[in-house]
Amino acid sequence: MKFGITSLALMAAFLFSPLSLADRGPAIKDYPAKQVADNVYVIHGPLGTPNPENQGFMNNPAFVITNDGIAVIDPGSSVQTGEMLLRVIAKISKKPVIAVFNTHIHGDHWLGNQAIRTAYPDVPIYGHPNMIALIEAGEGRNWVNLMERLTKGKTMGTGVTGPNKAANNGDVFKYGGITFKVHHYGKAHTTSDIMIEVPEYAVTFLGDNVLNKRVPRLDDGDILGNIEAITRIMETGSKTYVPGHGPSGDARVPQAFQRYLEILYTTVKKYYGEGLSDFEMKDQVASALNAYAGWSGFDEQLGKHISLAYLQIEAADF
Ligand SMILES: [Zn+2]
Repeated sequence: MKFGITSLALMAAFLFSPLSLADRGPAIKDYPAKQVADNVYVIHGPLGTPNPENQGFMNNPAFVITNDGIAVIDPGSSVQTGEMLLRVIAKISKKPVIAVFNTHIHGDHWLGNQAIRTAYPDVPIYGHPNMIALIEAGEGRNWVNLMERLTKGKTMGTGVTGPNKAANNGDVFKYGGITFKVHHYGKAHTTSDIMIEVPEYAVTFLGDNVLNKRVPRLDDGDILGNIEAITRIMETGSKTYVPGHGPSGDARVPQAFQRYLEILYTTVKKYYGEGLSDFEMKDQVASALNAYAGWSGFDEQLGKHISLAYLQIEAADF
């Protein structure tokens, strides 16, 4: 029965083997890193939503070079994005990665943790406790599946590598003489947002509490909470703000997005007061937000943003 045993062994090997190379999506091409402040670099990702062409890559992975090594913020949407980030870092510095920060639960920001963890098994990965709880509840797996579906398998090989260290509002982490101060102001873009201030370089990483040239999915957010979070973070007086998507810049970056949310909320509130339903006010709200009509995702998201604002205004009114 030698043949039978061999067949069984082969079948077992097939069933239980880790992913073969054929089950792994292709590498992502290297994108340029832009220096936005002393020792601070950002790879500004494409502005679209995840698709086979961008391979799911769409966020702004960033890194800060300290005396002892590199701190990474949001290594991207897949193991392939994380590997690309490591290649780009290596072109600029030979230092190891010594810390990772994840700004919130949305998988386009943190699924790349896997590549960093593989290269640096002991690296601490920080995230808000609500993010850690959401991953324990299955949100990480949902994001892995969503990315695979939207990219038609280009992110395959990516698994769930979440934060292993909690980061709360007011926490201060020091790496290589550089300060990483955590800001969290309740439900904003999600329940799990942290923004990272690096006072030595007057830089703040905003996560998706602020986007630039692109409108977000707000489904998990609170519009007034998001407006408030932007007011609070601007009290840092940072010189450079790095949004979750789109170009970095000065205070005008968070101001412009805050203005989007304010116009959305106040315009919907006005027509809500006049008794219009959410779909009846769409043209008026679109024209009030005309300055943002060129932002990526505007047409797709506007109806949803109005509905969300409407629900939150109705709830506040109740
Ligand atoms: Zn997000």
